[in-house]
Parts: sequence; C-alpha cells; structure tokens
Amino acid sequence: MHKIVLLLALMTSSLCSAQGIFKQEMTLMGCHFDITVVAADTTRGDAYIQLAVDEISRIEKLISSWDPASQTSEINRNAGIQPVRVDRELFDLIQRAMGISQLTDGAFDISYASMDRIWRFDGTMTEMPSEREIAASIQRVGYTHIQLDAKSSTVFLEKKGMKIGFGAIGKGYAADKAKSLLMEKGVTAGIINASGDMNTWGQQPDGSDWKVAITNPLDKTRSFGLLPVRNSAVVTSGNYEKYVVLEGKRYAHIIDPRTGYPSSGILSVTVFAPKAELADALATSVFVLGIDIGLDRINQLPDIECIIIDDRGDIHTSDQIKIASR
Ligand code: ADP
Ligand code: MG
Repeated sequence: MHKIVLLLALMTSSLCSAQGIFKQEMTLMGCHFDITVVAADTTRGDAYIQLAVDEISRIEKLISSWDPASQTSEINRNAGIQPVRVDRELFDLIQRAMGISQLTDGAFDISYASMDRIWRFDGTMTEMPSEREIAASIQRVGYTHIQLDAKSSTVFLEKKGMKIGFGAIGKGYAADKAKSLLMEKGVTAGIINASGDMNTWGQQPDGSDWKVAITNPLDKTRSFGLLPVRNSAVVTSGNYEKYVVLEGKRYAHIIDPRTGYPSSGILSVTVFAPKAELADALATSVFVLGIDIGLDRINQLPDIECIIIDDRGDIHTSDQIKIASR
C-alpha cells in the first residue's frame, strides 16, 4: 500500500527507565499493521500485542465484506430482500458511518461498494467512460437507502444489488478498539499503525511524545516536518501511484459516490483527529470534497486538522496547522 510515507521516530528508552518499547509487524484486514507498546519486558510486551491482534481479527470477522461468513456479507446478500439482525457493535458502526455521510454531504458513503467498476487506475485505461455509463455506475449507491432499526438492531439495504463496505473506516475503527483495549489493560503507551494510519497514546519511556514525519510524496527525500502525536490519530489517504490521466486531467482512484467521477486535484490527505475512525473516514472524504470544501469542513470540526497535498505538490492546511517545509 503506497501512501505518503509517515516515518515514525521511535526512540529507544532512556537509560533511567525500566520500560521498553516492543514492536511487531503483521498482516491484518488485508493490510500491513505494526503494533508498538511500552512495557516492562518482552513477555508482557508480546502478550499485550497479542491482545491487540486478537481484537483486530475479531473486528475483521464482523466487518469484512470479503468474508462470506461475516454479518456484513449477510447484510449485502439480503439487499432488496429483507432486514438483517446484527450485533450492536456493527449496527453502531453503520450508524456512525451514516452520520459521517451527513457531515460530508454524501462524499463519504459506505454504499460506495455497489458502484460498478468502470474506471481502471492501472494504466490500461485510454478513454473516458460515457456519461451514461458513469451515471448508471452509481444507481445502487446512496446511504439514504440504508435503513436502520435500532429496536430490532437490523440493517436493510433497500435496493437489490446494494452493498456496503468499510474500506475507508474499518482500519481506523479497529485501531481505536485495539488502542482502548490496551489502555484498559493498563498499557501506558503505544502506537497502532495500520499501513501508515497511526493511533497513539501515552509517551515514549523517556517522556517524549511519539512523532510522525510527513514526507512530500513527490520527493520522498524532503520532509514537511516532524509532528508530535499526543493521544490521537493521524491518517493519510491517497495512493498517489494509482491514477489515470484522461483528456489532460489527472483522476485519483477515490471515486465520488454522488457523481461516479474519480476525484481530481489532490495527491494525498492527512487528517489529525482524536479517533482513528473519524480521521480515516474524513481523509477519504476530503479527497472527494476537494481542497476548498474539504478544508472548510475540517475547519468547522473541533480538534480535527488536515494537510492536503495537491497534484502540483503544493500544501494546503487547516487553520491550526503550521508546518515548515524542510
Ligand atoms: P487506503 O486504501 O490507502 O486506506 P483510503 O483510506 O482513502 O485509502 O480508503 C480508500 C478505500 O475506501 C477504498 O479502497 C474503498 O474501499 C473505500 N472508499 C472509496 N471511496 C469511498 C467513499 N466515497 N466513501 C466511503 N468509502 C470509500
Ligand atoms: Mg480512509
């Protein structure tokens, strides 16, 4: 998975501290995770990391739309047929996702998953699809056609062929859950890194903050700056190597679920938020909303900041962010 490289400055524990930093890498939810905890020794560090792995795997089983046995697949199979009773946890996640759809005027939409795949971003596409094809591709998309019944904890997709998917929120949600579980177990500090989506808590054993460096995707040797991340999440969206140029315009691989057109103008979006779930969803949303509306929306949200790199390599930031190019 290519995205802005978020370099993690992991400093080793100071001499006077009994605590150490323990880190493991693994594949979860189809992507690369690394989990870091601060603990007294390897045995405890490994045990804590295992708890996080189990928690993320549990969530994957619930929300994966690839796994035919998941409740999410059950919802999708019953689209246009009948409501499906699901665990409260999944119900609540869908409800929050629909809240983000409202917040972003539908730029974020978990029913994006029913879009026809008419765009290819692997270099094999040479001409625009027709307007009719584009319009038809989003016929089954629309969060307003997801019916929730809180009393019976059921989810119903109104249209036949409708589907939901958690590609832009699931990793963030899983990272939040793993983090809160470890905090509950008494782990004082750590980082859940889901393919560059960072979620931190506590501090390094030497008392310093965890820091991430945001590098320029157009020139990986140049960093935009090192930013401390205090008990919060930083998520980057944007695979700047996946795009298509059609009729002189560069389109990125994130498609606007309202129009069926791929987004353009943005190379990557990094969102800072207290929770990874919201950061994850908003990073994808800003891509779709574009620079002006995206920043405007972010500036209205408390405790949420964002850095956008446009396709000329220029940086745009929300009001509270000050970074110096180095
Ligand atoms: P990454 O693949 O680097 O995690 P994102 O966080 O931006 O990138 O997530 C992109 C994924 O989100 C897509 O692969 C797809 O699964 C899903 N997605 C794409 N567009 C939307 C959208 N408009 N609303 C919700 N989810 C989306
Ligand atoms: Mg995302």
